[in-house]
Amino acid sequence: MEPAPNIALPRPLATPPNQKSMPSLRQKIPLTYMLFTRRGRIGRVEYLHCLLLLAGAFYLLDQGLGRILGDLTPWLLSPTLIWCLIATSTKRLHDVGRGGWWLLAILIPVLGLLWLSWQLLARSGLAVANPYGAARGMSEDYLKNDQGQPAADGSGIVINEVTQLHPVVVAKVERPTTVEALRQILSTTTGPVSVGGGRFSMGGQTASPGSLHLDLRGLNAVINFSREQKWIRVQAGVRWCDIQRHIDPHGLSVKIMQTYANFTVGGALSVNAHGRYIGFGPAVLSVRNIDVMLADGSVLRASRTENPEIFFAAIGGYGAVGIIVEAELDLAENTAIECSDRKLVRTDYAAHFKSDVRDDPLAVLHNGDMYPPDYRRINSVTWRKTERTPTTPTRLMPLNDAYPVMRYFIWAYTETLGGHWRREHMFDPVFFFRNRVYWRNYEAGYDVAELEPKSRRDDTYVLQEYFIPVRHFDAYADTLTEIMKRHHVKILNISIRHALPDPGTLLSWAREEVFAFVIYHKQDTTPSARGAVAVWTRELIEAAIALGGTYYLPYQAHATPAQFHRAYPRARELFALKRRLDPDYRLRHVLWNTYYSHQHDQTSL
Ligand SMILES: Cc1cc2nc3c(=O)[nH]c(=O)nc-3n(C[C@H](O)[C@H](O)[C@H](O)COP(=O)(O)OP(=O)(O)OC[C@H]3O[C@@H](n4cnc5c(N)ncnc54)[C@H](O)[C@@H]3O)c2cc1C
Repeated sequence: MEPAPNIALPRPLATPPNQKSMPSLRQKIPLTYMLFTRRGRIGRVEYLHCLLLLAGAFYLLDQGLGRILGDLTPWLLSPTLIWCLIATSTKRLHDVGRGGWWLLAILIPVLGLLWLSWQLLARSGLAVANPYGAARGMSEDYLKNDQGQPAADGSGIVINEVTQLHPVVVAKVERPTTVEALRQILSTTTGPVSVGGGRFSMGGQTASPGSLHLDLRGLNAVINFSREQKWIRVQAGVRWCDIQRHIDPHGLSVKIMQTYANFTVGGALSVNAHGRYIGFGPAVLSVRNIDVMLADGSVLRASRTENPEIFFAAIGGYGAVGIIVEAELDLAENTAIECSDRKLVRTDYAAHFKSDVRDDPLAVLHNGDMYPPDYRRINSVTWRKTERTPTTPTRLMPLNDAYPVMRYFIWAYTETLGGHWRREHMFDPVFFFRNRVYWRNYEAGYDVAELEPKSRRDDTYVLQEYFIPVRHFDAYADTLTEIMKRHHVKILNISIRHALPDPGTLLSWAREEVFAFVIYHKQDTTPSARGAVAVWTRELIEAAIALGGTYYLPYQAHATPAQFHRAYPRARELFALKRRLDPDYRLRHVLWNTYYSHQHDQTSL
C-alpha cells in the first residue's frame, strides 16, 4: 500500500441518533400542507415556488372557469387564493421567526407592504430550530432502509428494497461491525447468505429466501486517508454521504459516485455505479484496490494488477464471487461548479455533447433531460468549474425531514393535466434562469428522500437504465420514444448521462463509450401492472441489445435469461469463477437465483 502522509486513524462513523429510515408520516407531505396549512416553516425558494404555482394554477382556473361562470369566477376563486397566500406566507414568516399576525402589516400603507416583501422574499430563514419547527438542514441523516421486519407468519425477517416490490423472507439478519466478525459468521455457518448495503437496488438483489442476510452497514469505518495523494480507504458499509462529511473539510470530493449520497461504497462498487461525471464512467475507474472476503471467510486484496481476475469479477459483480469488505478510492478536488443549461432539439444533442461538453476541461457534471411526452427536446445541463463564489449557503447539502416542494413537483408533473408542459415551459426556465454556483460536494449530496412518494402501497416509483453506444443515441431515443408512447408508460423523468469505456469488469455495461438513458417511472403494484412493465422492459432491452448496448442490473429482473446473456456476454466467465470460489452457491440473491441457477442448470445438462 502507498504511504499515507495524512492518516486519519480507523474511525467508525457514528450512527446518528435520529436515523431517518423509510418515510414517516411527517415526510409524506401532501400538497395540502404546502398550500393550505399555516403550520411549520418554508424557505425563500419554496415560497417563491408556491407563489409561481399559485399564480399559474389560478390563472388557468380563471381562464377555464371564466368561459362557463363569467364574472362570478373571481368571486369563487378569490377566497381559496387568499387563504393559500395567507397559509404560505405564514409559514414563510415562521421561517424568519415571526408569527402569522405580522401579515397584518400589509394594512400599513406602502411601508407595510415594503417591510412584508422584505421579510417574505429577501430574508434568509433562521438556521436553528424555532417554536415553529426545525430549520432547513436540521434532519440528522440521509434516508435509510430498515434493518428488516419480522414476517407476519413468524417465518423469518422480511428484507425489502426501496420500491417495496420485492419483499423476501430471510432466515436471520446479522450486522457485523468488524471484518473479523463477518469472517466468523461465514466460517461458522453453512447455507445460503445474502448481502445488503443500503438496499437501494430495486429487484431483490440483496436477499434470497431462507438465507442468512448480512447487513453490511455496520462495517462503516474510515481506515486511511491521504489529502496530498487524494485517496481514501474505507470499509464497504460506509456511505458516500459519510465520506463527504469526512473529506469536505480537507477540500476533497468523491471522484465517481451516483447522483444520490445514500448508497454504500460496497453496494455502489458491486453494481459498478456511475454518476453524472464528465471524463469518467463506471465507478471501477476510481478504485485503487479492494479487499474481498470469499465464501469460506478468507480475504484477499484485488486490484488491476493484484488478483485482477477477482477485481474485475467483484466490481460490478453483485456479490457473486465474494463480499467487498474494504475499498481504496481515488478522490478529486472539491471545486466550485457553475450550472448552466441549453435547450436543444433532441436530434442535435449528440453533436452538441461531443463539441461542447465531452472534452471541455472545465466540465465536471452533465446530464440531459428529455422532455416528455414527445421527447423531442432535451435540456442539456452542465456544471463547470468556476472562480465564482458558490451561491449556496452551505458546503454540503442540507438535509430536510421532508421535501414538500420536490415531491409536489414530481406529483404535479406526472399526475396533473399539462404537468410536463409546465415543467418544460414554466419551471425549468425559472429554475435555470440564474446560473447557480455550488460546491461539488453539495451537488453530489442529494438525499433519496426527496424522491419518496406519499405511499408505495398501490403504486411506486422505479428506475430503469439502458446503455447505448454513443453513435446510436438517436436510433435508441427514437425506439424508446415509440415504446414509451405505445405502452403509455408513466414517465417521471428520462435523464441522459455519458460514460467512457470500462477497463474490463466481467459484467461491464460500458464496453465502449456510451450514453445512459435513465428512466424514472411510476407503476402500479398489482400483478398485472408488474407484468405489463415486464413486457415493455423486455422490448427496451431487446432494442438496446440490437444496437450493441445493454441494460442495468440493479433494477427489476425482467430480462429473460437469454437476454441477460446477450446483454452480458462475459457473465459465463463470472459464473465459472463463482463456481470455483463459491462451489456451494452460498452467496446468492434474486438476481443469481434468476440467472445463475439457470446457467448452472444449462451447463450441467
Ligand atoms: C433513487 C436512486 C437513484 C439511483 N441513481 C443511480 C445513479 O445515478 N447511478 C447508478 O449507477 N445507479 C443509481 N442507482 C442504483 C444504485 O446505484 C444501486 O442500487 C446501488 O447498488 C445502491 O447501493 P446500495 O448500497 O443500496 O446497494 P445494495 O442495493 O444494498 O446492493 C446492491 C448489490 O450489491 C451487493 N452488495 C452490497 N454490498 C456489497 C459488498 N460489500 N460486497 C459485495 N456485494 C455487495 C448486494 O448483494 C446487491 O446485489 C440509483 C438507485 C436509486 C434508488
